[in-house]
Formats: sequence, structure tokens, C-alpha cells
Amino acid sequence: MLWRTFNWLVALCAGAATGALWGLYQDSKSIWVYLLLGALSASFAWWLKDGWRGLRVVAWLGAGDLTSAPTLSGLWGDIVDLTCRLLRQQERAMQASDQRLKDFLSAIQASPNGVLLLDAQSQIEWCNQTAALQLGIDVERDKLQRIGNIMRDPIFTNFMASGDSDESVVIEGRSHRPNRPLRVSVQRHRYGEGKQLLITRDVTVMEQAEAVRRDFVANVSHEIRTPLTVMSGFVETLQTLSLPPEDQQRYLALMATQAHRMQTLVEDLLTLSRLEGSPNPSVYSQLSLADLMLVCEQEAMGLSESMAKGAGTQMIEFVVDAGLSEAVLLGEPRELQSALSNLVSNAVRYTPADGTIHVNACVKTDGSLQLSVKDSGAGIAAEHLPRLTERFYRVDRSRSRESGGTGLGLAIVKHVMQRHGGSLVVASVLGQGSTFTLVLPSTRWRLSASQQR
Ligand code: ADP
Repeated sequence: MLWRTFNWLVALCAGAATGALWGLYQDSKSIWVYLLLGALSASFAWWLKDGWRGLRVVAWLGAGDLTSAPTLSGLWGDIVDLTCRLLRQQERAMQASDQRLKDFLSAIQASPNGVLLLDAQSQIEWCNQTAALQLGIDVERDKLQRIGNIMRDPIFTNFMASGDSDESVVIEGRSHRPNRPLRVSVQRHRYGEGKQLLITRDVTVMEQAEAVRRDFVANVSHEIRTPLTVMSGFVETLQTLSLPPEDQQRYLALMATQAHRMQTLVEDLLTLSRLEGSPNPSVYSQLSLADLMLVCEQEAMGLSESMAKGAGTQMIEFVVDAGLSEAVLLGEPRELQSALSNLVSNAVRYTPADGTIHVNACVKTDGSLQLSVKDSGAGIAAEHLPRLTERFYRVDRSRSRESGGTGLGLAIVKHVMQRHGGSLVVASVLGQGSTFTLVLPSTRWRLSASQQR
């Protein structure tokens, strides 16, 4: 400001001096008048120029274009520089806050949960892609639409109409189909002035797992209750009636069968829980293929004879392809043994006395080792095949029980194979028999040290 006043004073003095000189030149007696006129004219010219510079600054500010700043000196120049600096700072702050907002929205977009913002009139302000997919919202088209006009599910409508805050509801998602269910949990939180935040979550798998758990508990209870009821009936009979010794022996034998059934069930349940709770078997423990086949063969013969009861036994054949006689399986021996035993015992149990069972070990072109159990039994209808490995799933419940089945055998086999990186493949035609195949990847078996693959 001082500099500006000094500038003005210099102009004033220069004007006064010029006026005085002009007065002298004119040889005028009233030189003071010339001096005053000179000072006034210089002052006026100074203010005029200053006003013009001010107007250029105002015009520049009005245009709002940072790049075309006027080049001025003095106070107006300082104002231009300071304004430019302030504007640049502001622009940087806005860019940073824009970036933060973008990052924030990208994070919400990446969230596995859906996020939906509603204004005080329940109109859609913003929603991420997950919520849009789950609820069937078109992000662009449905903006500022009332959510009630888009979501017609009565459960959702009642939920939105209820005043309770921070509660949730489970509805069917937009792409829900009976064969491909989609269940979505919607949770509401109120914020701001009447605004609402809806968080959506796909709970299909959770609900299915919960249903499986409920079914499992119900199945286990049922499986245990049946033999227990039978046993307690026999105990009561033995306690209350004085039966001849041969009847007593018969009842005791029946009780022993039921006790054995419960024992087998508990053992299978413990096996399953052990398989689920332990890490995958290492490749350092091994089992010889020949031993595995031998043990299974002995078990199969024993089971076939014990089941025959005069009806004759099945023709059971175990074949190991050439070159595999010294092969070893890399994994948990007990688990691998139980997997093949389960398949062989099923084949014996579900094949009539005059039927045939072939167990074969061979290598496929992809290097996998396949152990297949082929029987000439009743076969399984196609609609049952996808569910065979579910716990307690049986095609013929009474037949499975009669032959001492628990309904857990194939579930155990599937688990064992998964833990070894392999799989269980089932092929069957009703009336023509079944083939159950254990597929072990090339990393889970090798020829003995003396042989090369
Ligand atoms: P289970 O103890 O009842 O045999 P599994 O889990 O071993 O239970 O088998 C499930 C069901 O698959 C059986 O109840 C049976 O109906 C069917 N199944 C298994 N193996 C065979 C087979 N070789 N032939 C026909 N049906 C079979």
C-alpha cells in the first residue's frame, strides 16, 4: 500500500512539476494554477490507469480461466499472483478430494456386500454393482426412483414400511430360480435426516449350509433312535417275560446286530469328522497297490460269503494292469484303503448272488491312476447319481439298512479322494450295473523305485 501511495505521489509531483514548467514557459503569473492543474491531471491519469488495471483483473476473475491471467505489476499484479496461487491450491485440494471420493466408491464397489443409499423419500441416490445385481436395479435408469416401485416383494415392502431401524430381512434375489436359488439379506441403517443405508448380502450358501446342518442332525438322531428303540424294546421284553433260553439267545443276537449298527454309524461319523478336521495327507506316506487290492479282495470274499446264506456268492475278480504290480499310492494308507473297501463292499451288497464284480487298476493317458469297481447289480437311476455322495442319501433305504449300510460310505469316499487331489466318478445304468471309479492324480502315485513310468 505504501508503494502504491508512493507511486501516486510520484505521479502527482511529476504532474505538478510539468504544470509548473508549462506555466513558466507560458510566462504566466499564476504559476500555482498551472502547478495545481498539472498535479490534478497527473492524479486523474494515474487513477484512470489504475482503474483500467483493476477492470482487467475483474474481467479475468469473471472469466474464471486460470491460464489467461493478465501480466500486471504492483498491487494488481500481486492480487493476480495471490489469486492464482489460491485457486491452484483449491484445485489441488479438490482433485485430492475427488480422488478420495473415487477411491472410496471403488472400495464400496469392490465390497462383496451390496450398498444402497436412499434419500428421505426412499428414492435411490446411489448403489453399488453388487446391490444392483442382487436386487435387480439399473444403476442409471433407476436413479431417484422410489425403491418401492422397483422392489415389489411383499416381505421387502413390509420391511421398508416398518419403522424399526437397524433390522434385517431375507428376500429372494432378482435372479432367484428354484434350481438356482439366490437369497439376499437386507439390513437397514438410518442416517442423516431421514436417509437410509441398505446393506445387502448373499446368504444362499449360508442358508444351504444351515439346512444341511439341520438335516444332518435330524438324520443322525433318526439313525440312532431306530436301533435304540429296537434295543430298548428287547431289553423290556427280556426283563418282563420269562422266555425259553433259545428265544433269549435270539433276542440277544438281534440286540447285538442293532448295537453293531450303531457302532458302525458312530465310527463312520467319527471318520467323516476326522477327514473334515485334519490337513490333507502328505505324499510321504505310501501304500502298495498290491497290498490294497489283496486286503480288499479278502474283505470282499468274506463279505460275499457271509451274505450268501446258501444263495451262492458273486464272481469277484481283481485285476491289476501290467506294469502296475509294484505301484505305490502316495497318501494316507488307512483312508485309501477305506475308500476302495467302501466301493467293493457296496458292490458286494448291491449285487445279486449270481452277479459279477470286477475291480481293476489301470493308468490313463493323463497319468492318473484309476481304480474302478464294476458290478452287474441293479444299477442306479440317473436322477440319483448327483446326490449319491450326500450324507445319508440312499436310493433304497430299506435295502441299505438290511445290508448294514449307514448311508455315509460314499460321502467318506468322496472326501478321501478330494483330500488326495482326486475324485470319485460314478457311472450307472438302471438294470445294468454300476461302475464306481477312484481317480488319483499322477502326483499321488508312482511306480516303485525299480520301475519307470
Ligand atoms: P450305504 O451305506 O447305504 O451303502 P453309501 O453312501 O455307501 O451308503 O451309498 C449310498 C447309496 O448309493 C446306497 O444306499 C445305495 O442306494 C447306492 N449305491 C451305492 N453303491 C451302489 C452299487 N454298487 N449299486 C447300486 N447302488 C449303490
